[in-house]
Amino acid sequence: DLRVRFAPSPTGMFHVGGARTALFNWALAEQSGGRFVLRIEDTDASRNRPEWTEGIISALDWIGVNGSNPVFEGPYFQSAYEPQHREAVAKLLADGRAYYCDCTRDALVARTGSEHKGYDGYCRDRGLTEGAARFRTPDEGVTVVADLIRGNVEFPNEAQEDFVIARGDGSPLYVLANAVDDITQNITHVVRGEEHLGNAAKQMLLWPALGATPPVWAHLPVIVNEQRKKLSKRRDKVALEAYREEGYLAEAMVNYLMLLGWGPGEDREIMPWSEMVPLFRLEDVNSAGAFFDEKKLRAFNGEYIRALPLETFEERCAPFLEPSWDRELFSKVAVLAQTRIAVLSEIRQNVDFLFLEEPVFDQASWDKAMKNAPVEIITGYLERLEAVSWDPESLKEALEEVGAIHGLKLGKAQAPVRVAVTGRSVGLPLFESIEVLGRERTVDRLRAALT
Ligand code: GLU
Repeated sequence: DLRVRFAPSPTGMFHVGGARTALFNWALAEQSGGRFVLRIEDTDASRNRPEWTEGIISALDWIGVNGSNPVFEGPYFQSAYEPQHREAVAKLLADGRAYYCDCTRDALVARTGSEHKGYDGYCRDRGLTEGAARFRTPDEGVTVVADLIRGNVEFPNEAQEDFVIARGDGSPLYVLANAVDDITQNITHVVRGEEHLGNAAKQMLLWPALGATPPVWAHLPVIVNEQRKKLSKRRDKVALEAYREEGYLAEAMVNYLMLLGWGPGEDREIMPWSEMVPLFRLEDVNSAGAFFDEKKLRAFNGEYIRALPLETFEERCAPFLEPSWDRELFSKVAVLAQTRIAVLSEIRQNVDFLFLEEPVFDQASWDKAMKNAPVEIITGYLERLEAVSWDPESLKEALEEVGAIHGLKLGKAQAPVRVAVTGRSVGLPLFESIEVLGRERTVDRLRAALT
């Protein structure tokens, strides 16, 4: 049975790239009824923080990768398996597959005359009984990583130095610990980022040396930004949490992340998770860098927002509104907002005029709107509002008439009224907004704008 794993290191905010890797693994486990193992690789004590581990678990939970599905197993913590890692090192030493080495970097540089040469095998046959442990790599031939995405990737063995598997103090290195855990946890498919391809070349040697058959490999393409540079936390918005806080829906995020290197075909892009799962195939993943297009993600999110049942939309908006704001009043404009926002955090600026004592005036909008005969328009409109019937159609006709008197089309006449009433030059449809705001408050705001 298929067993995959997701093995993040808790050394920072959980990255969208990590989420993509997790989802590809999750899809494989779900479609096959296999297992998805979550293994937190927390062995770098100097860089780990518990809050980052929690961040990973809660971010995964948010995108649906959690124990409510029986394919989920874990979380395991790599640090708990250090005895097994040490045992594996001891076995490789005992079998002669590894040897002790006490060479310093300086000594190596002095011998090889270069900063860049790999280890020269100096200690291979010295029979030392302590030091760092190095794995003895073959001198000839090639190591082939049969990768489902990249095909057979060949690594000439002469270029593969005898690599370190444990430090002088006995602490195992990452490349070893990672392989031992995969073996112990019976992992059948290792699906991870392209940056680990070089590790796979080493692990192809480690697995058989530890008595195990290597897994199926698949190294996912890097994710790049608009400049085709690898997504980085310094340059780009990469934390999954940041998208969540901004009001991206998990469903939209999941859908978009699945398209980073893969697609369901037939030009389809918007597709719910449940439909994608059976279609997902590692063989169809592209090896070229995948562009993380934030604009496209936004557009996706807008589509997902529009597809929500109105009631659900209102619930999802709640965290972005003040708790004291009247929910019934919000309900009256929610349907207008649902078609206009792309991320949930935008809800606030669209509806705050209804709840605040005075609108938040945007100076640039104000200056622009107040260019065309604002006083005449507002005064004229105020006069009509006393008698007009309070529905959007009549409210619109009244303003049209006032505009006509001053030679202004509706759009131009609307501008100062909109800013006076909502504080902004863009927003929800004006006459529906005025209807909900009510006669008294609208009149007050228009009067206030005149002073
Ligand atoms: N802990 C590694 C990382 O976060 C993952 C290694 C692997 O998937 O094998 O990059």
